[in-house]
Amino acid sequence: MTGFDAPDAALRGASYLIPVDNVAALMRHAGNLLERARKAGVECNLRWRLEPQPQVLRDGDLHQWVTILSRPPAVRGWSLAARYDIDPLGMTAAVPRTVPGGELPRRYWTLGDPVCEHCNTVRDRRAVFLLSHADGRHLLVGRTCLRAFLDHPDPDRLATLFDSLVPDDLAGRYAFRDPAAPGYGGGYLDAVEELAWTAGIVARYGWRSVARSDADHAATASRLAFLMNRPNPKLAALWHAERTACAPTADHYAAARRTIELVRAAPPDSEYLVKLKAIAAAPAVHVRDRALWCSAITLHIRWNAKRLERDAAAGAPPIETGRQVVQGRILKLDIRTCRNFCREVMTVQDGHGRKFWGTQPRFLHHAKEGDDVAFRADVEPSPDNPAFAFFKRPTRVPKAA
Ligand SMILES: [Zn+2]
Repeated sequence: MTGFDAPDAALRGASYLIPVDNVAALMRHAGNLLERARKAGVECNLRWRLEPQPQVLRDGDLHQWVTILSRPPAVRGWSLAARYDIDPLGMTAAVPRTVPGGELPRRYWTLGDPVCEHCNTVRDRRAVFLLSHADGRHLLVGRTCLRAFLDHPDPDRLATLFDSLVPDDLAGRYAFRDPAAPGYGGGYLDAVEELAWTAGIVARYGWRSVARSDADHAATASRLAFLMNRPNPKLAALWHAERTACAPTADHYAAARRTIELVRAAPPDSEYLVKLKAIAAAPAVHVRDRALWCSAITLHIRWNAKRLERDAAAGAPPIETGRQVVQGRILKLDIRTCRNFCREVMTVQDGHGRKFWGTQPRFLHHAKEGDDVAFRADVEPSPDNPAFAFFKRPTRVPKAA
């Protein structure tokens, strides 16, 4: 049986602040892992302890301190110490995930193009493991070379087990976020500063919503802003270049202040805006409201887009009354219900940025948003906006002979 050199060696551990909702999943995960280890004939140890500290409200979720104690399989003094993940910024570096409580020598904090220190071959960043020896030595080893160190008939299986031993996002992402740490300002952050950083990130990467970030396996704009502003000391080198590139300029501070004006002026017609307006009333924002607060920058993005559109439309010739060809792109399809009658409507925007609104013609039944269309119709400009018109009685444009 492959196991530990010293089965009674102390477990090493670290405490993590994790969402209460994830605690049950973490325990299930540990139970499954131990079962898989037993089947593989590996003596592996993983324990957890719910700490008695009170639960903490953060980012709108209740969090619980959990200590994870583990002892990875070790053979002849060697044990697994860390694996590497592609970093959340998508740069050409990798971030180590260490066994709870493990400490890494500085040169292993990030990886460029890793070389297996056993066979001297360049390896994929996701296929290397860091081994540590009881005497303090460390060695970076490719997955296929693990056999030389871990005497198990299936070292790959061992490595897979080890992968799960390292706490994943369930626990890992909250490991370094301690509001008691210096730089947190007692849990309160400068409201303008936070938005200015978000504006800087958005200028470089575009807005990343939670949904889009999940799909791309990337960080949200507000999470990036947080990381940039307070780099994890272990990863400071990695973030330095990005930090410099995203540091807010005078324009970004102006965007932040403009956003606050927009929030204050916005009507409180949704729960979201009511919350934003409450935050905007004070110069500081609490850490738990940070993500919500940073999302206010989207108001500025929309306001900017509207202004650009207005500027473009202002230079366009006014729409004339009468029957004419409407040619442009479908901006929006919608359904309007009136009593028991419902109709499909569409907004078409032409090359001048002018908009035309009316019932979707039957012959364009299959058209989608974003399609280019042309039809003939009776057009009546809106009395208060010369760049907006209503159309009626649309017909096909005869194909040019
Ligand atoms: Zn190798």
